Amino acid sequence: MPSRRDFLGTLALLGLSPYAAAQTKPAAPPTGKLPARVEFVIRNAYVMTMESAGDLADADVHVRKGEIVAVGKKLAAQGAQPIDGRGMIVLPGFIETHWHMWNTLLRSMSGDKKEHGYFPTALNLGKAYTPDDMYQGTRLGCAEAIYSGITFVHDWCHNIRGPDYADANLRALRESGLRGRFSYGAAQGQPGTQPIDLEDLERRHREWNKYSGDGLLSLGLAWRGVATGATGAVDASAYRKDFEAARRLGIPISVHANNRATGPIAQLANEKLLGKDVQVIHATWVSPEEIRALADNGCAVSLSPYSELRIGFGFPPTGDFLRAGIPVGLSVDTTALSGNADMFAIMKAIQNIENSRTKDEFKLPARRVLELATIEGARSMGVDQQVGSLKPGKRADLIMVDTRAVNIGVWSEASHMLVEAAQPSNIDTVVVDGRILKRGGKLAAIEAGRVTSEANAALAKLRQRAGWW
Ligand SMILES: [Zn+2]
Repeated sequence: MPSRRDFLGTLALLGLSPYAAAQTKPAAPPTGKLPARVEFVIRNAYVMTMESAGDLADADVHVRKGEIVAVGKKLAAQGAQPIDGRGMIVLPGFIETHWHMWNTLLRSMSGDKKEHGYFPTALNLGKAYTPDDMYQGTRLGCAEAIYSGITFVHDWCHNIRGPDYADANLRALRESGLRGRFSYGAAQGQPGTQPIDLEDLERRHREWNKYSGDGLLSLGLAWRGVATGATGAVDASAYRKDFEAARRLGIPISVHANNRATGPIAQLANEKLLGKDVQVIHATWVSPEEIRALADNGCAVSLSPYSELRIGFGFPPTGDFLRAGIPVGLSVDTTALSGNADMFAIMKAIQNIENSRTKDEFKLPARRVLELATIEGARSMGVDQQVGSLKPGKRADLIMVDTRAVNIGVWSEASHMLVEAAQPSNIDTVVVDGRILKRGGKLAAIEAGRVTSEANAALAKLRQRAGWW
C-alpha cells in the first residue's frame, strides 16, 4: 500500500497538489484594496462590552472613522449605515498573542515519526522557504484569522532568512487589514552563535511608518532566549545582543519557555532578563518561584493549548498565573500542530484543561476565559487602551456571532455559548479598525479560494525543493 507521503510525493513531482483539480484562476486579486471605513451602527444586538458596562441586551454599537463612538440602547446615529444585530452577539475581536504565521503553509504537517515531528518539519522546510512562501503562509494565516474573528495577531516570525523574508511577511499582514505586532526573529537553523540581523531590525524600526499599515502594526523582538530546547541552545553573546537591541529600541520582547530540563524562566530571572516588556510563551513547566518571578517582573504569559497538548508540553497552569496576577493571553502558536486557528476551541480547551487539572467544575468560568481572549489578551500585549473591549474612544475591532445556527442555538448564557458552542462559521461579521473584513459569513476583501490554491501550489514546490514528503 503506498503511504500518504508517497501519494503526496508523486503529486508534488507532477507539480500537482492534491487540491489541484479544484484550482481556478479568478481574475480579481486575492487581496485587493482594503474596504473603506464606513460609518455604521449595529442595531438590536446582544452586546458584550467586556467593560464595567457588562452585557447589554437589545443594544447598538455606533462606529465612525474606525472608532467606536457610542455603545447603548436606541442610539441616534443619524446617517450611519444600519446593520441588523438581531440574533447576534457583538463582542470585541479576539486578541491572538503568539502565532508563527509563516507556518500556516505547513498546516497539519507535523508527522507521526520523530524525524517528521514539528521541529524537524519547521526546520527542514523553513530552510527551503522563499520570501514568497513566507507571504503565502502568512496570507493564508491572515485569511483564517479574519474568518475566525481574530482581529489582533502577534506574528512571531522566526524564519527571517534575509530582509526580503520580513518584507514579504509584513506585506501579507498589511494587505490583510489586521491589527497586530510583528516580532522580528532569527532564521530556522540559524547558528546559536549568531545574533539576528540587528542592522535590518534597527533600520526597520527607524522606518517603521513604511511597514506599519497606517499604524495597525507594531514591531517587537521574537527572541530565542537562553535555551531553545529542541532547536538547540543560543550562546550568551548572541542572545544578549538581541535582547539589548530590543531594549535600546524600546520594543517589546517575546520568548518561548518550554524546556523542562533547563528551567528557562529561572535562568531568565537569574540573568535579569525579565521585565514588563517581556512576554513568556507556554511556561507549562514552571515552579512556584518562577511564577513569582514572572509576576514580580510584570511579565505577561501566552498560552497555546493546542500546540502544548499536541506536542506534549503539558497542561497550561492557567489558574496559577491568574492567581499570581500575571496577564494571560491565548494563542494559536502554529497550525503545523494545532491544525487551525479557532479561538473558540482555544478558549474551550483552556477552560476544560484548568477545570480538569484542578478537578473543579467551577475553577475557570467561561466569562473569565472570554476575557483572556479579549481585554486581558489586549492587556498582555499592551494594546488594551486601543482595543479588547467595546467602549467609546476605542478603535472598532469587533465581531458579530450569529446565534441561530444548529450548533449554537438555543439561547442560554452568552459567555457559555461562545466558549462552549460557537465555531468560526458562526461569525457573521468581523470589523478591524472600522473596516468590515467579513460580512454575512464571507471574507469581504480576500478571495479565499485563490489564497488556498496559491498556497497549495507554493507548498508543492517547497516540498519538492526540500525533498520533504
Ligand atoms: Zn511558538
